[in-house]
Amino acid sequence: MIEVSSSTRELGLRWHELFSRHAEDLYPGRYTANKCFELAEQAVEIHRLAEEKESTIVAHNYLYPEFHEIAEKVGDSLGLSFYVQKKKAPRVDFESVFFMGATAKIITGNATRVFVSDSPDVLGCSLVFGIDYDWLDDWKRRNPDGILVTYVNSDAYTKSISDFIATSRNTDRVIVHAAKMFPGRKILVLPDKYLGYVMKARAIELLGEEGINIDPDLIEIYEQKKGQYWAACHVHQQIGPDAADIALLENEDAELMIHPECGCASSCLYKVQKGEIPHSKAYFLSTEQMIERAKISPAKKFIVATEKGMVYRLRKEMPEKEFIPISAKAECGFMKANNFDKLLVSLREDKVEIVYCDDCCDPRAPYRDDRIVHIPRSAAEAAIKGISRMLAIG
Ligand code: SF4
Repeated sequence: MIEVSSSTRELGLRWHELFSRHAEDLYPGRYTANKCFELAEQAVEIHRLAEEKESTIVAHNYLYPEFHEIAEKVGDSLGLSFYVQKKKAPRVDFESVFFMGATAKIITGNATRVFVSDSPDVLGCSLVFGIDYDWLDDWKRRNPDGILVTYVNSDAYTKSISDFIATSRNTDRVIVHAAKMFPGRKILVLPDKYLGYVMKARAIELLGEEGINIDPDLIEIYEQKKGQYWAACHVHQQIGPDAADIALLENEDAELMIHPECGCASSCLYKVQKGEIPHSKAYFLSTEQMIERAKISPAKKFIVATEKGMVYRLRKEMPEKEFIPISAKAECGFMKANNFDKLLVSLREDKVEIVYCDDCCDPRAPYRDDRIVHIPRSAAEAAIKGISRMLAIG
């Protein structure tokens, strides 16, 4: 969070130095001195408005560095949602993508007004857009007692029809729990196929360690395509199967931290299981686990396989260590659609607010205009059950 006592000029100078040091290779040419002064001016106004509106500003790891500097908390979507809930914040400006703001609303309920700074289309996500409701209906018809394990990167409606919500930290353990609780029943893991395959392999391994052998076909991975979107995050997908090997060849002394959504994740896990990549070299981690791992690891150099916004946070928190993005192209245009201009409008004009409605609209296509977006109350109530089941697993 910015220091209010800083003069705009001091802040601009500080940011110019900070961003030049930690972000010049990530966003070449973006942080000129003039740009940093302009951002600093806007930041001071954002801070003033946030105080006036009693708003807590939180930002996802993948946002531009200036958001890391103005936010009260930077983190992943669930971590930020629980932070706001614990704080009992009257208002939050959730700087990320739309489904994350919606998840925060589902978790905080009526206690907190939740705002995002653009529409669900602009602040989109290829995983959300890739979910085919008709196909899911059909899967449920074909598997009437099937269990849906849904990654948190999904819309409110999909969460509402799911049995369990899961994260990149715990999907394997959620699958294990579901397999033990509902033996012999089909489990569908959605919507990210790369994360799904890694978590399936790890769940089978964990079950094996407990002496439970499960038919692998009982764990199905969502692979549908809807429109231009596949069952994958388009940003992580482009980190292809060979990316990990190439990065390790070029940096023999580095540790590899891989987000399970990456296109290289399942092939890399396979190589680790076969001993082709040493266990001590490659770690499959959520973004928060990357921070934890880098802090305790004896390694001095890390290759970071996820959206490159994460690299700024790692470098800032651990300046004594070296963090290399696996791909300069790993940038999410949906996350980067957030900017200070939009946040200022959002704070001044109180939009776009995510609100509960009394089931006035279709949960698959909820009402929205340029000021509000609905979440039908019954969908929110059903979605929170899947989140609570996940929390009970730990
Ligand atoms: S990085 Fe991928 S999963 Fe995350 S918001 Fe962007 S498109 Fe969605």
